[in-house]
Amino acid sequence: MTGRPAEFPEGRLSVRGRLAHDKASRSAAGQDFGRVVRQEPWAVFRPESAEDVSALVRFAAAQRRAVAPRGRGHSTFGQAQAADGIVLDLSGLRAVHEVGPDFMDVDAGASWRSVVLATVPRGLTPPVLTDYLGLSVGGTLSVGGVGGATHRHGMQTDNVLRLDVVTGDGVARTCSAHTESTLFHAVLGGLGQCGVITRARLRLVPAPARVRRYKLYYATPRRLTADQRRLLASDRFPYLEGQLKPDASGWRPRLEAAAFFSPPELPLDESLLDDLGHERGSEEIEDLSYVDFVDRLTCSEADLRATGEWFHPHPWWNAFLPGSTVDDLVEEVAARVTPDDIGAGGALLLYPFTRRRLTTPIVRTPDDPVVFLFAILRTAPPDQPTAVEEIIRLNRALYEQVRAAGGTRYPVGTVPFDRADWVRHFGTAWPSLHEAKERYDPHHVLTPGQGIF
Ligand SMILES: Cc1cc2nc3c(=O)[nH]c(=O)nc-3n(C[C@H](O)[C@H](O)[C@H](O)COP(=O)(O)OP(=O)(O)OC[C@H]3O[C@@H](n4cnc5c(N)ncnc54)[C@H](O)[C@@H]3O)c2cc1C
Repeated sequence: MTGRPAEFPEGRLSVRGRLAHDKASRSAAGQDFGRVVRQEPWAVFRPESAEDVSALVRFAAAQRRAVAPRGRGHSTFGQAQAADGIVLDLSGLRAVHEVGPDFMDVDAGASWRSVVLATVPRGLTPPVLTDYLGLSVGGTLSVGGVGGATHRHGMQTDNVLRLDVVTGDGVARTCSAHTESTLFHAVLGGLGQCGVITRARLRLVPAPARVRRYKLYYATPRRLTADQRRLLASDRFPYLEGQLKPDASGWRPRLEAAAFFSPPELPLDESLLDDLGHERGSEEIEDLSYVDFVDRLTCSEADLRATGEWFHPHPWWNAFLPGSTVDDLVEEVAARVTPDDIGAGGALLLYPFTRRRLTTPIVRTPDDPVVFLFAILRTAPPDQPTAVEEIIRLNRALYEQVRAAGGTRYPVGTVPFDRADWVRHFGTAWPSLHEAKERYDPHHVLTPGQGIF
C-alpha cells in the first residue's frame, strides 16, 4: 500500500479516531445476507453526514485503502465487503429530509420501508418498490431495483430525479440527468464503482387507498408467461409478477397481480380475469391496505428468522431473459433445479417487463421488447461448504446458458465473474463506465467486492 497522506490531510485528520476496529463490527461487516463470502474489513466507519462520507473517502484514497459502501448488506456474494479495507456502514445515514408534492429527498441509508412510512400518510408513494422493503435506497439504486410495478414504471433507478454523491476522490457532488449527467448515469445501477450515493431525490406518485391482490395458478410455466404477456400488452394491472413455487407435485406456476382501488369503487374481478388461462377455481383474492400490501414480506422474514433459515447461506441467482427465449430457458432451468433442491421456502421468480420502460443506461437487459426477471431463491444447508460450492458452479453454468440465449445477469446474486465477464456484461456501456471510473475514482478505492476494476 503506497499511502500519500499529505495529498488529503483534511480527511485524514477528521476520521482517524472514528474508525471501528473491534471484532464485532468487523465481523458483522465481513458478512452479508448470502453467507457465502466472508471477508473482514480493516475497519468500519459509520457516517452521520455526507461530510463524514467525504472525509472517509479522502482518507481511504490517501491510504489507497478500499472502501465498500454498505446499505443493509443484502448482497449475496460479498458485493458490499472490503477485505482489509473500510466498510462504510450507511445504515445511520437514513433521514427523510423533505416530502414534496411529487418528490422526496431521502438519505441513501434509509430503508424503502421508511420511505413508504414517510410518504403513504401523505397520499404518495415511489412508483416502484422492491418486494422486500428492508433494502436501502442507496443499495437498490446501485443495482437497479425491480418490483411488481416495473412493467409500468421501469426500475427504481428509472425514477430518480437527483443524487448527492461522494466520488472516489472524496468530492461531494450533486448530479441529475441534466447536471453532471455522466456521473448520474455512472452511479445509477453502477454497482458503487464511481461514487457513494449519500442522498436521493425520488419521484413520487399518488398512493392507492386499497389493493386487491390476485394469485392465479397455472398448469405449466408456458401458460403463466402467456398470460403475463397478455397482461403486459393490455396494461391491465398496476402490479404484475409471477413465480414457480415448489409443491408436492413439482413446480406450481403462479401469477400475482394487483388492482388498486378507492372504496366504494371496487375492482371488477370478472372483467379483469375473464380472458386469462389460469386453472378456474384456483384464484386466491384478498383486499389489503397499500402499506400491508407493499410490506407483505415482513411476516415471511419473521418466520424465516424464527426457523433460522434467514441465517443460512443464500446462493441466489438472478438474470434478465429475453421474451423470445424465456419459455425454453425456464423449462430447462426448472428441469435442472428441482423443487427438492431449493426447498419449501424457495421459489423461481418470473417477472415480466416491457423493455422500453427500462431506461437506465448502465443496467444491462436483453434486446427484446419483453424482458423477464428470472431468479432462483434458495437456501443451502449451513456448515456444508461443498453444497454451496456446487450451487455456485451450477449458477455459473446457468448464467452461461442464459447469456448464450441473449440474457443478461442481474448483478445482485451469487455468480463468479471476472474482469472479462464484466467487460462483456457491460458491452457498449463499458467504455463510458471505464472512463467514469478513471475520472471519479482514480485510485480505484470504491466497492472492490464487485470485482470489476
Ligand atoms: C430478501 C431480499 C429481497 C430482495 N428483493 C429484491 C427485489 O424485490 N427487487 C430487487 O431488485 N432486488 C431485490 N433484492 C436484491 C437487492 O436489491 C440487492 O441485493 C441490493 O443491492 C441490496 O440492498 P442493500 O441496501 O442491502 O445493499 P448492500 O448489499 O449493502 O449493497 C449492495 C451493493 O451496492 C453498493 N452500495 C450500497 N449502498 C450504496 C450507496 N449508498 N452508494 C453506492 N453504492 C452503494 C454496495 O457496495 C454493494 O456493492 C433482494 C435481496 C434480498 C436479500
